[in-house]
Amino acid sequence: MEILFLLMNIGILGLGLIGGSLGLDLRSHGYYVLGVSRRESTCQRAIALGCVDQASVDMNLLAVAEVVFICTPMSLIIPTFRHLIAHLPSTTVVTDVGSVKAPIVKEIAPIWENFIGGHPMAGTAESGIEAAVPNLFVNRPYVLTPVATTPNAAIAVVEQIVQQLGATIYHCLPEDHDRAVSWISHLPVMISTSLITACMSETDPNVLQLAQKLASSGFRDTSRVGGGNPELGVLMAQYNRSCLLRSLQQYRHNLDELINLIDQENWVALEEKLQLNQQARREFQLGVGN
Ligand code: NAP
Repeated sequence: MEILFLLMNIGILGLGLIGGSLGLDLRSHGYYVLGVSRRESTCQRAIALGCVDQASVDMNLLAVAEVVFICTPMSLIIPTFRHLIAHLPSTTVVTDVGSVKAPIVKEIAPIWENFIGGHPMAGTAESGIEAAVPNLFVNRPYVLTPVATTPNAAIAVVEQIVQQLGATIYHCLPEDHDRAVSWISHLPVMISTSLITACMSETDPNVLQLAQKLASSGFRDTSRVGGGNPELGVLMAQYNRSCLLRSLQQYRHNLDELINLIDQENWVALEEKLQLNQQARREFQLGVGN
């Protein structure tokens, strides 16, 4: 069984941070990796960096792949999939790495039986092929979102590959994935960006400058995701709009509760709340450096 997997050709469509990193790891496990990207220069860099064995701007290169990972930006996953399938036999297992699952699975699963949605919960602040790094997925969650019609064999093949990346696999419904990531990934981006906006609204320029100089670990941690790639933030909001709105509305409610407690100088209730959250935070698997 193992030998069969080692002989597999794996296609990666979209050679950037995630696609390139995936390629590095898959090659190190003995897979033959075929890469397709938009720009010829990216294809050449991907070969030079050891991310792929072969690369092209022509999707036909992926015709001999047994499994294809679609790693383009979110907005291009469905359109590129539509072009891709003209080049593939129906036996090819297709998966994607998009950060939102329901809209993608809803569109692709009815067209391609051997499709399984996926989301590696790993990344860095960088993008593009130069940002590719080995072992990006080690000890990180990797969510798979099969639906009732997904064949077990397709799930097993993708699971086998993901396991070799050193990731921890979770299965869930696409909708549950999107609701969960709206709490722990998309809501924090919006909260963090509004924190920066709030600080920048200080009207006394001397005080603002002082705050900017005094900013330390607390501000660094809480502003990090809000000060990240704006394009990604917009994509999260666009593709996970209803879940994100729901989370933001709940957050606004919690913020109002805090405002009331502080306004009423209800320090006992405030401490109780902080204590509860100190406990609750321990339930989140925060990984290294928490
Ligand atoms: P990225 O670094 O920008 O890589 C995407 C690559 O796709 C680009 O380098 C680009 O390569 C290529 N591309 C663009 N249009 C294309 C097209 N029409 N056909 C083929 N290739 C095309 O982005 P990323 O961070 O790897 O994200 C890729 C996917 O992973 C997204 O769907 C995102 O939701 C998901 N994801 C990201 C993270 C993260 O933290 N970054 C984490 C988990 C999942 P060229 O140089 O050839 O234009």
